[in-house]
Amino acid sequence: MPVKRSSKTASARAAADLKALTSESDAERRFQNLLKGSPMGIHFFRLDKDGALIFTGANPAADKLMHVEHRLLVGLPLEKAFPGLQGTETPEQFRKVCADGVPWHSEHLDYRDADFAGSFEMHCFQIEPEHIACLFQDRTERKIMETRLRHLTQQDPLTGIANRAMCLERIETALQRAKRRADYRHAVIYIDLDRFKNINDTLSHTAGDAVLVDTARRLRASVRELDTVARIGSDEFVVLMEEFDTYKRPIQAIRRIRKALAEPFVVEGQEFTVTASIGLALGETPAASAEEALRYANMAMRRAKAQGRNGIKSFTQTMLRQTQNVGRLENDMDRALARGEFFLEFQPIIQLGKDRQLFGFEALARWQHPERGLIMPGEFIPIAEDSGKVVELGYWALREGSRILNQWRTRYPHMADSIISVNLSPQQVPKIDFMPRMREILLDTGLPARNLKLEVTETALMQSGSSVLAKLQELREMGVSFSVDDFGTGYSSLAYLTRLPLDHLKIDLSFVRMLEVGKDNLEIVRTIIQLATSLRMEVVAEGVETMSQQTILTGLGCEYFQGFLFSRPLGEDKAETFLKTFLPGGTSGR
Ligand code: C2E
Ligand code: CA
Ligand code: CA
Repeated sequence: MPVKRSSKTASARAAADLKALTSESDAERRFQNLLKGSPMGIHFFRLDKDGALIFTGANPAADKLMHVEHRLLVGLPLEKAFPGLQGTETPEQFRKVCADGVPWHSEHLDYRDADFAGSFEMHCFQIEPEHIACLFQDRTERKIMETRLRHLTQQDPLTGIANRAMCLERIETALQRAKRRADYRHAVIYIDLDRFKNINDTLSHTAGDAVLVDTARRLRASVRELDTVARIGSDEFVVLMEEFDTYKRPIQAIRRIRKALAEPFVVEGQEFTVTASIGLALGETPAASAEEALRYANMAMRRAKAQGRNGIKSFTQTMLRQTQNVGRLENDMDRALARGEFFLEFQPIIQLGKDRQLFGFEALARWQHPERGLIMPGEFIPIAEDSGKVVELGYWALREGSRILNQWRTRYPHMADSIISVNLSPQQVPKIDFMPRMREILLDTGLPARNLKLEVTETALMQSGSSVLAKLQELREMGVSFSVDDFGTGYSSLAYLTRLPLDHLKIDLSFVRMLEVGKDNLEIVRTIIQLATSLRMEVVAEGVETMSQQTILTGLGCEYFQGFLFSRPLGEDKAETFLKTFLPGGTSGR
């Protein structure tokens, strides 16, 4: 019966097939044919005892795809046989496949060595313990198309160079490379044109555009082909430099860039020059992401700009710490005010006339930060000024200082006429609610206006307009007195000073410190004191630390003193102890 016969034949054939398959030589032949005929490239590797991946063979398609003759490479370690894989994730992935047997697939594996470059899709799997096979296909064509497409979507339409997205992608790739290759160097250069807005405003937008196009061209010409030049904001450019031998190269590139930009631009028949502020972030500083690397370079650029235009700055860890610190402190400040983390210290101001008297105290703000500990005003006042928070802080100090002095006044009769000297920020006065808040604080704390003195820096006074002066005048009429703080550090115009309602002039401690150093400095202080006297102002010497400074100052006619020689700034309790020594019959602060 045909069926039976056929079934018999089939089973016989199956047995024969099985025999053939299990026969070593037949299997070997078929395997060799599979290798020979496969349109996919196939590589074999073996993991040796030392952990090296040894290249053991390949098929003809592989040789064609990789443009090599594998016979010459057999027996070599992977990184030697295929140097383009060095520094990529591939060797590591191969070892993993060897170790745990889980296949690895890469859709895009870029290969590049001295002789050949290509893009491949690859499957890698274990064929027996410690042995792996890699099947790969050429994807270069596809890669080229993708790249072209991406280029179109990642290009700045005006200048034709990379846009922000592309720039970030390139930096990301650079960061990945840097992680894998010890010898790989890269740097991000951030270039911001100074006063570009002027060009746009005074000429035209077309002129502005022409400058940007020309800038892009000049930047491109200043760096190598493999470096990325991108426009990432209206007048902001970034250069990503890669694969250079020493960190001198970015510096040299910046020099070339500056030279290129220094050439005059000619637009609409007009010639003008452009300067740029430049920030540099070297790849040495590890960045967690492309955005972060860009932020570092931007931070350095902003520093350069802040120090006058046309400058260069290199990013440093200190810069980062400072910026983080500033950001953090600024955030913390609102909470700090609400939670009472600020407190005042009081530094005595001593009047040395016929006898030694306590004139009053200067209120100095301190910040007891819950994590950072005590922070001094030298650190937080500039931040408070930049963020505008100095306004609230100022009112807080005023309220607290007034409250405490009034408390002392009621406890100790000899304090009745004492003065609390509070620093006034120039930002407080122009605000519309300034006068109402000042009155409210005096009313709430019960401190008579004549017991309050406000310290305003010389610089702030010089810059204030007539409405500010009018407000200060109004406070003066209420009985508040004023002191010019840090005198000598600004650029005073005498005529200006006479228009102001000032009672005291505080000689800045930098002059006091120089007193003993030279004759000229003594003359400066003498002149300041004469000036003050002619304006009917009293002089307070600040930062007096030595007896000899005190003697010189007294000789020059100075009557009021503040400084470590008399007392450091004191907490509320210690200040109270200090003031008690001035009780009639007391020991006068000593
Ligand atoms: P300032 O108003 O010039 O205060 C005098 C500074 O000199 C204080 O520093 C004080 O501690 C210091 N000082 C006093 N005597 C000596 C001395 O003999 N030797 C030395 N080396 N230094 C002395 P502090 O407390 O660090 O204050 C720094 C600045 O912070 C103040 O300078 C003031 O401008 C600002 N500030 C402090 N509290 C406030 C506030 O409540 N509001 C505003 N707007 N600014 C404040
Ligand atoms: Ca002061
Ligand atoms: Ca001062």
